[in-house]
Amino acid sequence: MRIPFIAGNWKMFKTKKEAKEFAEEFRTLYKDTDVRTAICAPFTQLDTLKEAFAGTNIGVGAQNVHFEDEGAFTGEISLPMLKEIGVDYCVIGHSERRQYFNETDETVNLKLKKLLNESDIVPILCVGENLEQREAGREKEIVEGQIRADLAGIAADKVASMVIAYEPIWAIGTGKTATPEQAGEMCAVIRGVIEELYDEDTCDRVIIQYGGSVKPENATEIMNMDEIDGALVGGASLIPQKFMDIINF
Ligand code: 13P
Repeated sequence: MRIPFIAGNWKMFKTKKEAKEFAEEFRTLYKDTDVRTAICAPFTQLDTLKEAFAGTNIGVGAQNVHFEDEGAFTGEISLPMLKEIGVDYCVIGHSERRQYFNETDETVNLKLKKLLNESDIVPILCVGENLEQREAGREKEIVEGQIRADLAGIAADKVASMVIAYEPIWAIGTGKTATPEQAGEMCAVIRGVIEELYDEDTCDRVIIQYGGSVKPENATEIMNMDEIDGALVGGASLIPQKFMDIINF
């Protein structure tokens, strides 16, 4: 039985002051539910959120990590640095990183291995096709290819502990949501690839989220799809009441 998991991805939004204000308001709205939840925030806001959410079940996640422990990698953050803060999750391979920061399946794979082999931080692996690929009818092939490459050499028990987010690029920040059927269909495809690469148990255990213009108005129908276990929420996770309404889908 998979526990629903709804995570916010703040991207490059909110200063420390704004993060504190969010956390204060969110804590007053938040009631323990059967839904697992987390906020993935900019690096400089992670310790603020860890402190603000202490004593609650609200997780805190980073949005990237380097695959080396240390070195001459200007502007990067390492796993030991994240461990020190005590983060619970880390987004890996978000389409914005693939698109604007040269993230490849190869670096995604190295980062996943780093997290899974050397920490308890749960990776949220993002995959998804762009509009051109969907219009050409290649969406399944693209997403399957990403899953195979990103998970190469990773053991079944590690994959079972991960979260995978299907985020069609054409639905991110555009207000254009994939229909629940489109989202559910691709989450089923992803689960099928996991079963083929590993086994039924791994496929039953891995959490698969949908991301792309999720909001309170569409959360219920998305969450009601059998193959969708949760959501990765961008814009709507910046507003405490909206994010809470999604969690209470
Ligand atoms: P939006 O919810 O703003 O479309 O963003 C989705 C996303 O990219 C989450 O990682």
